[in-house]
Amino acid sequence: MATRTFDAVVIGAGPGGYVAAIRLAQLGKKVALVERESLGGVCLNWGCIPSKALIAAANLVEDVRGAAERGILADSPRVDLVRLREFKNGVVKKLVGGVGQLEKGNGVEVIKGTAKFVSPTAIEVSGGEAGAEKARVEAPAFILATGARSIEIPGFAFDGTDVWSAKEAVDLPELPKRLVVVGGGVIGLELGTVYAKLGSEVTFLEALPTILSGIDAEAVRLVQKGLRQRKATVHVNAKAKGFERKGKELVVTFEVDGAAQTVTCDKILVAVGMRPVTDGLGLEAAGVKVGPKGFVEVDAQYRTSAPGVFAIGDLSGPPLLAHKASKEGEIAAEAIAGKKSARDWVAMPAAIFSDPEVAAVGLSEEQARAAGHETMIGKFAFAALGRAIAMDHTEGFVKVVGDKKTGLLLGVTICGPEASDLIAEAALALEMGAYVEDVALTVHAHPTLPEAFMEACKAALGEAIHALNRPERPRKTDGAADQKA
Ligand code: NAD
Repeated sequence: MATRTFDAVVIGAGPGGYVAAIRLAQLGKKVALVERESLGGVCLNWGCIPSKALIAAANLVEDVRGAAERGILADSPRVDLVRLREFKNGVVKKLVGGVGQLEKGNGVEVIKGTAKFVSPTAIEVSGGEAGAEKARVEAPAFILATGARSIEIPGFAFDGTDVWSAKEAVDLPELPKRLVVVGGGVIGLELGTVYAKLGSEVTFLEALPTILSGIDAEAVRLVQKGLRQRKATVHVNAKAKGFERKGKELVVTFEVDGAAQTVTCDKILVAVGMRPVTDGLGLEAAGVKVGPKGFVEVDAQYRTSAPGVFAIGDLSGPPLLAHKASKEGEIAAEAIAGKKSARDWVAMPAAIFSDPEVAAVGLSEEQARAAGHETMIGKFAFAALGRAIAMDHTEGFVKVVGDKKTGLLLGVTICGPEASDLIAEAALALEMGAYVEDVALTVHAHPTLPEAFMEACKAALGEAIHALNRPERPRKTDGAADQKA
């Protein structure tokens, strides 16, 4: 067996691993990046990127449908699934190719195959190019970035035909007349909405009392309203139990408050969470400790319990976000290169591509109060914003949370058009320790959507121009506040 030696080896080429490999190479290290599938991991191949290609296409369908209201007379749109799939595949191919070029251009050696530790400083790589023998790869430093995979639940084994995971759903094998989505989390909502917009009748089953749990209640209400407008049905407190095939139909059983109910459909998408991928990695041979939930335990520099072995991204714990993985990859690479980098971000934004989109960064109102802040809240509705009205996308709001005593900005939630882009300014503000007043005093170009952030900050100070400033109402409890909002 051939032995290769590197300064550092990264296992897994998702947005955590491929970024870590580039950063290591930039820092002068001789690096190998081991990947058994395609470069780019879940994010590029069947997660973030292809789903956004589909979401953009589905939005286009809706824009065309609604165009007549704005005086644009277009025929009612039809969806050519083959071409839409080709478009999505083209997007993925372009980006995967780009990652390959970046690795090559930075001098990273990509090794195809599955890595397994045989000691704390060596792995064996098998199953690479056809006919290639196993290779032994040695290094004083490893970064594990093997990501996460979809969780399977009893009664819904993924078969790729009737029961889809996100991987099949994003490949758009067909447009089922009726689709049941098990799990009203981020993936279920994003993909379920695509199918609803393309014409499927979608039913969501969510075990918890709300879809998108943990997200601002008012934003969730708007997302639910959007689903209703697209003829989708949402069952909450509904635990999916199993399904039966009846002819060509699938009858899904779910339980609400202990009582069984059924819904008939043609396909089932199960999106009930992801779990870290550690099986087959030989972590015991490396001495890497795994925590009770299956995530690898790490410190602020992403060092595991094994000296020289780092773990980043989905593998090292929630939130499971591509941009978090990339940031952690940079930190681990810099730590290997002897720098003092460590996890020290203030702001980790999250964006959900539902309709309307929801994005948040920093503390929510509830979290801020639970952390002992006396809060000041400012809100601005897109319905009062010129640009949003001109775009005919007026659903939603920007809500800012500040500390009443210090005036510091603590968190921002945006629900509405381009929320996923708008949150970047809020992340920058938080990272730079901005006061609510800093944003309020910053001149924002008109007419643009970010003006809503400025106006929300002004509203928190009682100085909104394009909304009436009302004194905050007394709030008894979080629940009471939510009901009033
Ligand atoms: P999730 O944890 O967001 O949601 C899963 C949902 O399924 C939960 O609400 C849970 O209560 C529900 N559930 C579990 N078992 C059920 C059952 N038997 N019946 C009905 N409902 C059930 O998980 P996900 O949507 O699969 O996403 C996985 C991860 O990927 C998450 O951490 C998510 O944040 C991340 N992700 C993020 C983005 C983004 O940031 N835009 C996009 C996709 C995925």
